[in-house]
Amino acid sequence: MAKINIKNDRLIEAYNQGKISFNPEQRDKWAKIYGIVGNHSAVHICSWTKTNIKNGPACYKRKFYGIDTHRCAEISPAAAWCHEACIFCWRPMEWYSRVTMDYDEVDDPKDIITGVIEQRKKLLVGFGGNPKVNKRMFKEAYEKWPSHWAISLSGEPTIYPRLAELILKLREHPETRSIFLVSNGQEPDRIWELKQKDALPTQLYISFSTPNPEMFKRVIRSVYRDGWERLMKTLNMLKDLNCRRVIRITLMKGINDDDQSIEQFANILNNIVVDYIEIKSYSYLGQSRKRLSYENVASHDHVKNFAERLQARLKDYKIHNEDKNSLIVLLKNVNSQYLDFIPGPKAEQSLNGDARI
Ligand code: SF4
Repeated sequence: MAKINIKNDRLIEAYNQGKISFNPEQRDKWAKIYGIVGNHSAVHICSWTKTNIKNGPACYKRKFYGIDTHRCAEISPAAAWCHEACIFCWRPMEWYSRVTMDYDEVDDPKDIITGVIEQRKKLLVGFGGNPKVNKRMFKEAYEKWPSHWAISLSGEPTIYPRLAELILKLREHPETRSIFLVSNGQEPDRIWELKQKDALPTQLYISFSTPNPEMFKRVIRSVYRDGWERLMKTLNMLKDLNCRRVIRITLMKGINDDDQSIEQFANILNNIVVDYIEIKSYSYLGQSRKRLSYENVASHDHVKNFAERLQARLKDYKIHNEDKNSLIVLLKNVNSQYLDFIPGPKAEQSLNGDARI
């Protein structure tokens, strides 16, 4: 197993210096990876979108939930701002600078959406001339409003104080079919605000990859001293949220996959209510390669074995689906009220449960 070198001596004060904008040097670096929007947002063309418009595989969310991979906009309203420094994160977190944004200093959600649409087109336009691209899918991806919004790209979206307005604005558009929000659970009050403002996403993900406070401190490395308690507060409020709720466990072989971890995961999961649990292998990508090794990647069989051992300790969840391309296994709550596929206007493609078009 790779040695994990952990430094958790950063203080919130250090994060709270600076101002809300990418600094010029960061902006140039980020612009090589993402479409930069305004002062703190970004959009990306995910690798699955790229393969899918070339008639290749779609992402697992198509197989599990029926989302339109080629019409996905992967965005972040706080691309360079996060409270955590998870050892498995592939993102360039050394550019993260603050963990708070004031309402008055951030970009308007309307401007973010307009900028995202413009930047996304710029990132997509080059694919039009590629002979391998499926012309119909490219046209839909390029010309139509994105039907799926993945608020998950980089950074932590709950840091953006106008998140509720952003989600409501996205939802307002008739072509928006689904909005997925991925959060680290460090801002329970912002999640609760989404409920109060009737601005919950279609599907809310909370990352929960460490089953005890000690591992949380060592692996997730929140800047908050009460980071574990914040996460537990978020997990406990999920039962009161009227949207599709998902727990995401990133499985790191040799780190959070032993019997004791499974027991601890199960104890917590048996006391909260969600619709799905996604167990996904850690990906040996980007900056995470400095902190973990390829040995920490779990094979699909290993993920499945973990899911089976976890299922055996859970009261209400059964293994429900899997996608070998993404090394992921899905458990579903037997009492969930939700159909797997998101209802709404669908793109013109077969939805046959196969991750390929
Ligand atoms: S939902 Fe996520 S993985 Fe799927 S295409 Fe969009 S950004 Fe990529």
